[in-house]
Amino acid sequence: MKILVINSGSSSLKYQLFDYDNKKVIAKGLCERIGIADSNFKHEDASGRVINEGRSFESHSDAVRTMIDTLLDPEAAVIESLDEIAAVGHRIVHGGPYFSKPTEMTQASKDAVRKCYPWSPLHNPANLTGVEVCEKLMPGIPQVGVFDTAFHQTMPSEAYMYGLPYRYYEDHGVRRYGFHGTSHAFVARRAAELTQCEGEQHRLITCHLGNGSSFTAVKGGKCIDTSMGLTPLEGIMMGTRCGSIDPAIVSFIAKLDGDEAKDVDYIMNHESGVRGISGVSSDFRDLHAAASQGNDRAKLALRMFCYQAVKIIGSYIAALGGVDSIVFTAGIGENDDVVRQTICDGLRYLGLIIDEELNRSTRGKEVKISTDESSVEVFVIPTNEELSIAIQTVEVLGLV
Ligand code: ADP
Repeated sequence: MKILVINSGSSSLKYQLFDYDNKKVIAKGLCERIGIADSNFKHEDASGRVINEGRSFESHSDAVRTMIDTLLDPEAAVIESLDEIAAVGHRIVHGGPYFSKPTEMTQASKDAVRKCYPWSPLHNPANLTGVEVCEKLMPGIPQVGVFDTAFHQTMPSEAYMYGLPYRYYEDHGVRRYGFHGTSHAFVARRAAELTQCEGEQHRLITCHLGNGSSFTAVKGGKCIDTSMGLTPLEGIMMGTRCGSIDPAIVSFIAKLDGDEAKDVDYIMNHESGVRGISGVSSDFRDLHAAASQGNDRAKLALRMFCYQAVKIIGSYIAALGGVDSIVFTAGIGENDDVVRQTICDGLRYLGLIIDEELNRSTRGKEVKISTDESSVEVFVIPTNEELSIAIQTVEVLGLV
């Protein structure tokens, strides 16, 4: 069985075709700069074919058509007919309160995706365009939406409400939704398989540390709290996002004059975080390099990031009533042993002990880095959002 996974953005479209039986990617590609000059097409597949060349993509339809033609190209023989594709899973960023699980795209579910536009004005319209183009160009193949917010829909109201007038929740849906749900769900499921703890009682904290970072408290497989909120700006400071700050700072900055008078949203999303503090980069590899050359602001950015991580994890230990397992995932979580070590050092009071040598040598592999004596199991689990989308697509359609 073959499953196609699509991530349709406003000016790009990424795809991966899975041979589902052995969970292998048999083709993947990226259509970049859709609707913009100099659009580009990248593709590689199991036949060894690699394409990286300029192609004109005036619309998402052009991109999907190119993907289909490339998959069907008889020379590479990835597939002979579109009928081989059992279903298409689409990444959809915001499911609002309407989607707590992956859902087959029908007129009603597409209307509900549209209702989420106010909370995700850049991503959701682009995601839905991907669905509609695939419906048109691959008729008869079921299209499934997999939502970044869905995993967090099990949060209780005391966790997802903000202390604002209730009408903002009722009239405008202002509440915590959370993001990275596909990744948190994937590693939480894997951790449940790896751990010795009983399913219903298992208390887990998942740390998705990438360019955007978020944490989730998971009890018995269900999310009970998460650090991102109405938007992906809340929580820990990130590559370029400020994370949680005193809300009054927003109006303070907005009232500054002259050169300082900039769009506060832009500053908080693109000029803040470890980049804003260090003045060096949003990339942790650059931060470590600068810190090792004595750059104090790069050192400060790294210290702030790890301190905030320990505080959020501590708050989730309180929310969960203890913790059995902690998972690190995504670009930083999978590769940055110094950040992992510093965060785990901050949790030593729990009796959490990691094997320092094992931690140092672990990059992008699934490994338990805690020792047998540790009171908490600590795992590095590489995330795979595309495979997670494929699995959820298959499950919701009952294809296995
Ligand atoms: P996203 O999907 O949000 O763009 P990723 O999960 O791919 O982000 O994470 C990207 C980030 O991971 C980079 O910005 C960098 O900070 C960090 N990263 C990647 N590789 C390493 C590494 N070897 N050491 C430290 N940090 C790394």
